[in-house]
Amino acid sequence: MKSNPRSTPATDIEARFAELDPRYTPDEAVAEASRCLFCYDAPCTRSCPTHIDIPKFIRQILHKNALGAAETILSENIFGGSCARACPTEVLCEGACVDNTLLKSPVRIGRLQRFACDEAAEKKIDFFEAGPDSGKKVAIIGAGPAGLTCAHELRKRGHAVTVFEAREMPGGINTYGIAYYKYDTVFALSEVEQVRRIGGIDLRTQSPVTGAQIADMLKEYDGVFLGVGLGRTASLRIEGEDLEGVWESLDFIFQTHTMPLETCKVGRRVLVIGGGNTAVDVATAAVRLGAEEVTIAYRRGEAEMPAFKYEYELSKADGIRWEFNAAPVRIVNQNGRATGAEFVRTRLVGSGRDAKLERIAGSDFTLSADMVIKALGQEALLDLLQAVPGLNVDKGMVVVNSATGATSVPGLFAGGDCISKGGEVVDAVQQGKIGSAGIHAYLSAPK
Ligand code: SF4
Repeated sequence: MKSNPRSTPATDIEARFAELDPRYTPDEAVAEASRCLFCYDAPCTRSCPTHIDIPKFIRQILHKNALGAAETILSENIFGGSCARACPTEVLCEGACVDNTLLKSPVRIGRLQRFACDEAAEKKIDFFEAGPDSGKKVAIIGAGPAGLTCAHELRKRGHAVTVFEAREMPGGINTYGIAYYKYDTVFALSEVEQVRRIGGIDLRTQSPVTGAQIADMLKEYDGVFLGVGLGRTASLRIEGEDLEGVWESLDFIFQTHTMPLETCKVGRRVLVIGGGNTAVDVATAAVRLGAEEVTIAYRRGEAEMPAFKYEYELSKADGIRWEFNAAPVRIVNQNGRATGAEFVRTRLVGSGRDAKLERIAGSDFTLSADMVIKALGQEALLDLLQAVPGLNVDKGMVVVNSATGATSVPGLFAGGDCISKGGEVVDAVQQGKIGSAGIHAYLSAPK
């Protein structure tokens, strides 16, 4: 396997990773805003996990008040810029827009949100100030969207905040794990800086913590928020998955965020195993890096595929082939290198909740590849979570009170992927807000 197998010029690769929906011009934004019906009890707002007042910010754009629109958005979602680019708007706000029925296409809420947030970011306008010092201090573990949102909200309330991040760079999945054509590391880090400009967020990178340290923090700090996310890609549990040429999806995406694109590794024939949005992210990145043939193999049928429809359509537009009802049996080993994977056909037997996936005897087949990428879900950081005394963890997820983010340990709150086992960035932001409000109430309660 080589970097850039077609010896494609770096500029061509950059062009292939160009954003699919570039930023609106001011005139385009006003024209799109004029399509909004400013619905009472707007369904788009109800569908947004962070409950941004969408008709309000669209009206502000219509009246050429982009900065006012940005304030409306960022007041509810400090990561409004990345959510505008990475949110599955088709199944959230835009999916609920009444224009789907009346005009056959929704108001492009995501692109309008991006327009407003970019205007504010470019002008380095800050809308938020830290509150008067409360004398309380909170530790936050993890500098992803949940942890940093919680930090920002706590600073608005005047609490001192220290954020411990295991990695070299802050931002969590925004910095390391989003498909590169949605946004790059430079943008992700600039948004983190925008969050930090509220002042007083003591961010400590390369500072991993253990379960025992979390227990100590609960004595040292007045409250602790756990936003550690998830760990490695789940194992396929088949022979050969540790061979050379087998990649984890996170590592594959990671290289696009940390290396020049023309030096990223990609095979000529790439086989992606999985059927979710991550599998599509990986496959479309492989195509853009220059792979000649990319196949996604999924063990269930097209109807059961977890990838969103628009992600599926994107993959087909990129020429990616799907192999449905293909359960991996083993990775093919040739002199210690992966040269493909062996599969067996499956079929769904029964219907509804009782339906079972059955392997069809004698249906084995092999797909050749010089790069195999595992794109299953991520595993929980169980070693860390189980080492926190008294922490209730169920099926790999930290159990919380959904109204406050409180865990089973007094003073310890949690949010983000460690409580949901993998949600959208916008969900993590909302959980960071809930955790912050929960911590504030906990700190304010008479002791
Ligand atoms: Fe505007 Fe659509 Fe929201 Fe109605 S549902 S307020 S038309 S964006």
